[in-house]
Amino acid sequence: MRHSHLSHLECSVTGTTYDADVVQGLSVAGAPLLARYDLDTVRAELPRDAIAGRPASMWRYHELLPVRDPAHVTTLGEGWTPVLPLPAHGAAMGVPNLLVKDEGALPTGSFKARGAAVGVSRARELGVAGFAMPTNGNAGAAWAMYAARAGLPSLIGMPVGAPEICRRECVAAGAELVLVDGLIQHAGALVKDAVTRRPGWQEVSTLKEPYRLEGKKTMGYELVEQLGWRVPDVILYPAGGGVGLIGIHKAIREMQELGWIGPDLPRMVAVQSTGCAPVVDAVERGLDAVVPVEDSDTVAFGINVPAPLGDRLMLRAIRETEGTAVAVTDEDIVAEVKAVGAAEGVFMCPEGAACLVAARRLRASGWLSETDEVLVLNTGTGLTYPDAVPYSVPTVATLDRGGRIA
Ligand SMILES: *Cc1c(COP(=O)(O)O)cnc(C)c1O
Repeated sequence: MRHSHLSHLECSVTGTTYDADVVQGLSVAGAPLLARYDLDTVRAELPRDAIAGRPASMWRYHELLPVRDPAHVTTLGEGWTPVLPLPAHGAAMGVPNLLVKDEGALPTGSFKARGAAVGVSRARELGVAGFAMPTNGNAGAAWAMYAARAGLPSLIGMPVGAPEICRRECVAAGAELVLVDGLIQHAGALVKDAVTRRPGWQEVSTLKEPYRLEGKKTMGYELVEQLGWRVPDVILYPAGGGVGLIGIHKAIREMQELGWIGPDLPRMVAVQSTGCAPVVDAVERGLDAVVPVEDSDTVAFGINVPAPLGDRLMLRAIRETEGTAVAVTDEDIVAEVKAVGAAEGVFMCPEGAACLVAARRLRASGWLSETDEVLVLNTGTGLTYPDAVPYSVPTVATLDRGGRIA
């Protein structure tokens, strides 16, 4: 059996077919391209249960990933993150069947590692000479590290407001780091310009190349396999560019076509910050595309994406699954980081905590019921966001006779 059953790429708007074995960007319609596989062959040759004995890595689904030759797989040991129950926290919010898929333990500290692992591996296979990308932080850190792993150079453009720690990760990875006095779209313009002057380089900003999505799709395969080949009732996802949400939805559709799971779909919820909520706005107004947000701002920097290129795909996934979209405040997010840390010992990133705030809200409104099994994606480690946990403690303390701080 072949390592990958990738067959072609397809325009997400027109359905036009593109060659998958040359470097591709957007379709001529300016839309993201989706990777398609020969699912009939996979269905015939790969029984679902054959996966069980494979290594605990996202590459266990390699037939459904785009890398044709295993020699090109660029790995830092990513994937197969735990699905943890949050019984105490869930019960307190009236959602006793609350689960988190904790992506905080991935290399580079966020689920961007999944996209970077597949994107870099496939680009290397197709002979790309270097990578350039704009980023709010986590994606740049991940691509810089995976590029280094592949022995390829990278140029990372970051707004000056992006977290210091992500800059340092890029420097540690030997990337060329450029800070832009503006927002991610300004970093994007600079990167685009650079790529036109560097032969063989690829622009790898969100959904402008087709394979990052394939990496993030593995979250969907994993969570379904980890639940015993079934979907939860609801999935809450912190949506920025939306790659994870689109990817999980794509994975579920593929597994259905493969006959690996039944027809049930989880209701998919996009969670955003009130400081940047173009998807929530589009869902509420019944639009097919977002209206770009101006002057966006949120502590959850991974979801500060004012004009996502994957808006139509996100909105389609939300509607098709009878999901919804919720915006939550930074204040509530910060409080939730502490609340879930103290209740369950999981140090979530603000993006992940935003999903818990949304779960509370949806439970209060009755959209979630007490019997729903609700899975939240914690997309990164809280360690990357030290400023999201304000504290004040005495510097020098003594204990009184009763063991209390005096
Ligand atoms: C990038 C990022 C997101 C949003 O991911 P998209 O695929 O762009 O929607 C959420 N959380 C964290 C921690 C991120 O780094």
